[in-house]
Amino acid sequence: MNSQLRREYLDALGLKAWTLRTAATPALAPATPALAAATPARDVSATREAGADWDELRARVAACTRCSLSATRTQTVFGVGNPHADWLIVGEAPGAEEDRRGEPFVGRAGQLLNSMLHAIGLAREQVYIANVLKCRPPGNRDPNLTEAAECLPYLERQIALLKPKIMLAVGRIAAQNLLRTEKTLGALRQQVHRFGVSNVPLVVTYHPAYLLRTPTEKRKAWEDLKFARDVISRV
Ligand code: SF4
Repeated sequence: MNSQLRREYLDALGLKAWTLRTAATPALAPATPALAAATPARDVSATREAGADWDELRARVAACTRCSLSATRTQTVFGVGNPHADWLIVGEAPGAEEDRRGEPFVGRAGQLLNSMLHAIGLAREQVYIANVLKCRPPGNRDPNLTEAAECLPYLERQIALLKPKIMLAVGRIAAQNLLRTEKTLGALRQQVHRFGVSNVPLVVTYHPAYLLRTPTEKRKAWEDLKFARDVISRV
């Protein structure tokens, strides 16, 4: 990406005065014992959807009625992107626009996510984007435990098929569900977590919808993106 284009994306992030520089190299260490206890390894190869290929998995999601969200959705939102991507971006659940269009991270939040990715040299088409939940909770309420538990095996199978080098959990709900913790987002940032028995490095940052409401936090999101970029450079 040329420097002019990158500057434009950084402008979109509200980081006009910033220049890219090499961040301190994060330690790509195993999860701390406390974190490991909070995030037990799951055998993603042995989950409910094991064996399904992309097409089969997409069909299962489209027909799913495992939780009550199936009654209120317009359509399921499976995920989008490069099925060979190194980066997997995981959000919480579809919003109104995503429910209408059948694609995750569209609308203003999606545009900001695109800008965030571009700022670290990634096009949306280079990554894979999905949510923990495939159906929209009415009124954009937080998903409940049953809904998340019923839907997570779909994401686990997506991860098993994708084999990403890094996962970026955006937003508190996604991070808490993926890491099985109730810690705050602030406590989960700037660390290398691990997901599943495949031990995929997982980094946590803010949801772009939150950043639109709270632009003062964009600087922290930018720090998280640089952190994640440095993590994957060492994988
Ligand atoms: S949210 Fe997930 S588990 Fe619930 S109906 Fe939709 S696809 Fe099925």
